[in-house]
Amino acid sequence: MQQTKLPFGHYKVPQVKEDSYITGLKLANSLKGSELIPFIPINGRQVNFYYCGPTVYSNSHLGHARTYLGIDVIRRTLRDYFHYDLLSVMNITDIDDKIITGANAAKQDFLEFTKIWEKDFFDAMEALNIELPDVITRVSDYVPEIVTFIQKIISNGYAYESNGSVYFDVQKYIADGHTYPKMRPEVNAELLQEGEGESQLNKQSEKKSPYDFALWKSSKPEEPKWQSPWGEGRPGWHIECSVMASAILGNPIDLHAGGIDLLFPHHDNSLAQAEACFNCEQWINYFIHLGHLNIADRKMSKSLKNFMTIEEVLKRYTPRQVRLNFAIHQYDAPQNYSEEQMEQAIAKDKSYQEFFQNTKIYLRESQVTDAQKWTENDFQLSALLRSTKQIIHQALINNFDFPTVVDATDKLINQVNIQIASKNVRAPLINSVINYVNFIFGLLGINYQTLLSNQIDIQPLMEQVCSIRDKVKVAAKNNDFESIINAVTQKQIQYEKNISNYLVDAINQFQQEVLIASQNKNKQQIFQICDKLRDQQLFDLGIKIEDKDQSSIWKQYDIQELKLEKLQQQILLQQKEQQRKKEELEKLEKAKLSPKEFFSQQTDKYLEFDESGLPIKDKDGNELSKKQKKVVQELWEKQNKLYTQYLEQQKQQQ
Ligand SMILES: [Zn+2]
Repeated sequence: MQQTKLPFGHYKVPQVKEDSYITGLKLANSLKGSELIPFIPINGRQVNFYYCGPTVYSNSHLGHARTYLGIDVIRRTLRDYFHYDLLSVMNITDIDDKIITGANAAKQDFLEFTKIWEKDFFDAMEALNIELPDVITRVSDYVPEIVTFIQKIISNGYAYESNGSVYFDVQKYIADGHTYPKMRPEVNAELLQEGEGESQLNKQSEKKSPYDFALWKSSKPEEPKWQSPWGEGRPGWHIECSVMASAILGNPIDLHAGGIDLLFPHHDNSLAQAEACFNCEQWINYFIHLGHLNIADRKMSKSLKNFMTIEEVLKRYTPRQVRLNFAIHQYDAPQNYSEEQMEQAIAKDKSYQEFFQNTKIYLRESQVTDAQKWTENDFQLSALLRSTKQIIHQALINNFDFPTVVDATDKLINQVNIQIASKNVRAPLINSVINYVNFIFGLLGINYQTLLSNQIDIQPLMEQVCSIRDKVKVAAKNNDFESIINAVTQKQIQYEKNISNYLVDAINQFQQEVLIASQNKNKQQIFQICDKLRDQQLFDLGIKIEDKDQSSIWKQYDIQELKLEKLQQQILLQQKEQQRKKEELEKLEKAKLSPKEFFSQQTDKYLEFDESGLPIKDKDGNELSKKQKKVVQELWEKQNKLYTQYLEQQKQQQ
């Protein structure tokens, strides 16, 4: 007699042992209906981690970006924040129906075909700064292991051969007291009831029950095939993950991840196969799922024309902006991708870059020999840094709650911005904040500091450039052309050989042009040359000058990123311009109406009008009240004004 099982009653939290490494981390475990479960690895600090990789038959798209960015952030956090010793395995599905169809259409050998798309996938991952797993397993390399694994399931009584294929025997598995599907209790309940009835081999089908799934498929002509005890064939899809995960990580495994779309049947079947092979109750201890991605509120699909490849997305946004966009959403919640969201990510990215730039300048201008005694500001900032660390720790142990992490980091950054503007906070403390913020961004796979430190040392040169340019501008304001000539001729610019020659060329050109303009006493032109140095020559070299009252500061950026930023701004401007034109047209359409026509068209509201077109009676024939009259009078005058303007415009155009 079958016992009725409680939903998720099969799940057992791993036991705490003497050498258990407990960090307080809790995970939303799909094996327990997304309940938060304390994370206890089997073996001390060691964490064995398997995640489902791509089926390689087409371009990598935004859905991949979301899944693998999410996993990348989780891996970095487990390793760098919690100090687990991770061994991670990802598979590549290079045997599959879609692959066979694609390879046949392209008239290519299927392995040649999959190599192309596998490279596309790894190129996209690299472009997004997603780390490689420790182990990559391709199905085509593991067919012998798959055959052995299936034989074991058959000998344990949980699979049967039928017509050259092998199927998993769901009813037998359940009848022996196993739970299937573990992560879908509603399906499990249905299956338990069915188990009471007969389960004879259906004459029309190869399967004993519609729930049985293929472990091995006999090959049709034109399909890749391997030898097996059941004839020539190929592995079913689900079996690969059970086999390859166990081949590297064994049984049981601490952590398994994948997109939510794979939860059923793929992950449930993977669990059943492995547990049937090892005759065990819990092959995976923690199963986590990355949330679904929609594009502008719709499912991403080629037919809806909203299918976005990673390559396309990276033409418009930097990898950091894409990473930030996904990081500010909870990994296991559904996410909707939209342009507005990317705008948010761009704004955040900009504010973070500015934070690192501004604090770098602050440190550049400070000396250890400066006064170091803490003031109220230092105490406050230090307290904020410490409480931020606590908030972030609580968020991270709470199922990697990165939205809260980003929020808390933003608040800390805002406070630092205020403090350094007032210039009343000690540099060593700012340095501590920078290190911490940099560490947290490192978990997100983002590093603003290497971005800054990779730059060539142009500090001595840029200080001279800013100083000369500042002097020129101040003197020009005072019509002091003699000082300008002194500024651009007397000071010889010293530079080292490794400094970009382009930068020196730009400065020499600037000096030449200013000299001529000041000899001609052309003040306007001098300001234009100063602007040109800032907006074109230096900008093109990745250097931005920010003009303050009488002096300026400079910041160095990645040249490609600055160009992309310019492009993003142009696109935004174009969109705004289109919107403005649309609104203008609508306004013009409205202005074409004389005030008389304006009300007479509103027959759903008014019945009678006076000679100027003002309504007298409402639609029911009642006279308008004093208040209503006042309102329509105001509307009439407004329309009259618009209409008069319109007539004048028309006259001018004639
Ligand atoms: Zn898988």
